[in-house]
Amino acid sequence: MAQSKFEYVRKFETEEKLLPNCWIVVRIDGRAFHQFSTKHNFKKPNDESALALMNKAASVVMNEFKDIVLAYGQSDEYSFVLRKDTALYNRRGPKIMTYLSSLFTSSYVYHWNQFFKETKLKYPPAFDARVVLYPSDQNLRDYLSWRQADCHINNLYNTTFWALVLKGGLTNNEAEKRLCGTLSSDKNEILFSEFNTNYNNEPEMFKKGTILIRKRIKSPKHGKARLVILPLHEDLIQDKFWEKNSEILAI
Ligand code: ATP
Ligand code: ATP
Ligand code: MG
Ligand code: MG
Ligand code: MG
Ligand code: MG
Repeated sequence: MAQSKFEYVRKFETEEKLLPNCWIVVRIDGRAFHQFSTKHNFKKPNDESALALMNKAASVVMNEFKDIVLAYGQSDEYSFVLRKDTALYNRRGPKIMTYLSSLFTSSYVYHWNQFFKETKLKYPPAFDARVVLYPSDQNLRDYLSWRQADCHINNLYNTTFWALVLKGGLTNNEAEKRLCGTLSSDKNEILFSEFNTNYNNEPEMFKKGTILIRKRIKSPKHGKARLVILPLHEDLIQDKFWEKNSEILAI
């Protein structure tokens, strides 16, 4: 095909390849979801439908991109881990990042009605994205542990905060003051002694977030094995998870 005299501008485009042999993590996070959750009447502190919709959108992404070996989600964020040796889009960072985040976002909108039957979507939500490379298995585990620890810390805070507001009749300001400087043990104690709530008995999805992994499951009908995306709500900080699912890091 004849080239136009404008073709040269293409040379201004740079194409940086992500370092080989590193775990690629793409983390997406909802833009201003504090406001989005209020505007769409999310239950506080945890709206189960909203979390289920996040998990659905992440499953769509994982189904489409087979090089994702694990995904971890909590609140309005999801992290996708791609195998170290992936050749997806020639390891072009922006291409991988934008495809994952736009497919996640469109799936979130596409499936909204399925999870929110009563609440109409009032405006188009957006998610930011970043790519991070982790050179060692330990770095990757520490990254995921960091996100899960964050989930736990925020959830304990939010659970106590909303108990004080919704059940204790405090204003948001009063609840915030009451929790200022408190330790985890103090929050557990407030929940237990004032609201008859044992934090340990809160739903695992709220405390641990959601881990999506691929597992080979034998269909009881046909006896044929097939790969399915399995949601787990368990601890991934301890070794046990990685021993039980040793295929994830063995890539
Ligand atoms: P930013 O644009 O900087 O990310 P943000 O308002 O999204 O700002 P985050 O730190 O990402 O701030 O926090 C997300 C907020 O969304 C939470 O603090 C919480 O208020 C709300 N949220 C997200 N998921 C849920 C849920 N399932 N149930 C209730 N609230 C939720
Ligand atoms: P890639 O994923 O590499 O971008 P692609 O199939 O999207 O692959 P493009 O080079 O981006 O390839 O071309 C987009 C194609 O989409 C066009 O070749 C055309 O076939 C189709 N298309 C886009 N917009 C329209 C339109 N408004 N009407 C008809 N066809 C369209
Ligand atoms: Mg953010
Ligand atoms: Mg956010
Ligand atoms: Mg967030
Ligand atoms: Mg195209």
